[in-house]
Amino acid sequence: MALKARNADYIREYNRKAVLRLLRRNPMSRAQLARDTGLTRAATSLIADELLSEGVLMELSPKSSGRGRCAIPLAVSPDRYLALGVFLSRTGCCAGLCDFSGNLLCRRPLELTDDPVEDIVRTLEELLETVDRSKVVGIGISSPGPLDTKAGRILNPPRFDRWHGMDIGPILSERMGMPAYLEHDACALALHQLEQGSSRDFLFLLVNSGVGSGIVSNGRLLGGTGHFTGELGHTTIRFDGRRCECGNRGCLEAYAAIPNLLEGSRFASWKELIDEADSEDARILLDREGEYLAAGVINLMNLIPLDTVYLAGDVGYGSDLLGERLKREIATRALSRDRGAVEVLPADLRPEAVILSAGDIVFSRFLTV
Ligand SMILES: [Zn+2]
Repeated sequence: MALKARNADYIREYNRKAVLRLLRRNPMSRAQLARDTGLTRAATSLIADELLSEGVLMELSPKSSGRGRCAIPLAVSPDRYLALGVFLSRTGCCAGLCDFSGNLLCRRPLELTDDPVEDIVRTLEELLETVDRSKVVGIGISSPGPLDTKAGRILNPPRFDRWHGMDIGPILSERMGMPAYLEHDACALALHQLEQGSSRDFLFLLVNSGVGSGIVSNGRLLGGTGHFTGELGHTTIRFDGRRCECGNRGCLEAYAAIPNLLEGSRFASWKELIDEADSEDARILLDREGEYLAAGVINLMNLIPLDTVYLAGDVGYGSDLLGERLKREIATRALSRDRGAVEVLPADLRPEAVILSAGDIVFSRFLTV
């Protein structure tokens, strides 16, 4: 009996979360919900009524379908669940508060002193002063890797020394009294890109002083949040190539990370390179970056289906110049080139995307049974 009850509880929770996942961005009627979840109309209505009575869902104004009764669209109540987001990076950290529908309610820069944990806690407490704390379901922390996401620990990302070995997840969870989840920045941004209704089979490439990747296959982040999610930057593009900080040789990151690409050139940054893209030496470097990244992308395309590559980080600036080179390389070299072209697109580059992506870490966990 106990097992049956547990199974019934699990199924109920599973179905509730399936309904919430669908409604999170797109309002829909009970009939459409039933179609998309595969549940019966009766079961869908039961769940919807339950969530309505809890204030998790709300009914929008009926939409006429032209004939018969008007369907009443259901939507999530945006402020019923909230998430705190913490974005850690080498070029500036920030924190914010996001609602369940993916709106940024508030954003604060993180002014870090010698005690960054205290700085983060103080900022998060300030953010919580503006809302009902019981609605906040957790804290999402986005950071450059390598990370131990399961333990919530930042390992040893290059040029990120002050955070090395810090159990940031457990520390913030204990200090703030709520769950805290650590995730690779590229994976968090890939989740956010997925929430924007993008492709369901894509690679999110975050190229700056490292090469981070988030891989979405069949509408799911590969491995899911909190698990191993792939490190395209540390796949080999030259087996006898340069030593990489990870200990291997010839990693994509050892060539395509911007400081490595620009080493020995007259350009101090990616922006400088793009601003002088017409010059001969800039063109050579841009071609080279396209070739490096294509090598990594093609390796991945030979393992899983991909239809889109999103470019973010430094290479988001002037991404069309790199994008056209990358597309050209893929089109001529990939084994799957006959199955249709791969799109190379700029990622969501709005300043709030980084906080929303940290919030998406929380909601992704919250909506997983
Ligand atoms: Zn490496």
